Amino acid sequence: MKDAALKRTILTLLLVLTVAFLYFQFLTEPVYNADFEKEADDEEVIEEDVPMPDSLHPVVEQRANELVEKAAAKGIRIIITDGFRSIEEQDELYAQGRTKPGKIVTNRKGGESYHNYGLAVDFAIKLSSGRVLWDLKYDGNKNGRPDWFEVAELAKELGFTWGGDWEEFTDYPHLQIEFGLTIEDLQNGKRPPAAEDYFLAEKESKKK
Ligand SMILES: [Zn+2]
Repeated sequence: MKDAALKRTILTLLLVLTVAFLYFQFLTEPVYNADFEKEADDEEVIEEDVPMPDSLHPVVEQRANELVEKAAAKGIRIIITDGFRSIEEQDELYAQGRTKPGKIVTNRKGGESYHNYGLAVDFAIKLSSGRVLWDLKYDGNKNGRPDWFEVAELAKELGFTWGGDWEEFTDYPHLQIEFGLTIEDLQNGKRPPAAEDYFLAEKESKKK
């Protein structure tokens, strides 16, 4: 009788331990996972409700003006044909050549272009007659080099990324300054530094 009671006690204890073990294994694991996933999500900071810019970033504007001056010094007249573009305007442009008549000029929908964040401009050559030219071969200053590529070179010296260097959807008139931010960063609400801070930092670094 005593042995049987002991056996029963041991069996009960084992059963309780097994249940406790299983409970710990299976019931607590999802809780642990949920916490882990939450932590992983937290790493990528998504700032909601950050307003979209509504004009060209002053640093980009200043650089674009500088480009016009530097090109003029080389005998090349350019015009900035496009700067800030709203999401609606970008969607309109994207529709061109797709759901609307015309030639496809962009492969970026609203919110996917640096123009939408005020960080891009497009340029073209302007003749003294006032005519605007999109001619990559035109050599108006007669130095044996196409004006368009000379402008692109000047732009890159000023910190612009040139769309003419892109292998996918080469965009010759396009210039942008990213401030180290990808389109995804911008879509997630990250923004470049304020112009005052940027110019101040630039001034400081020039002093050194
Ligand atoms: Zn552009």
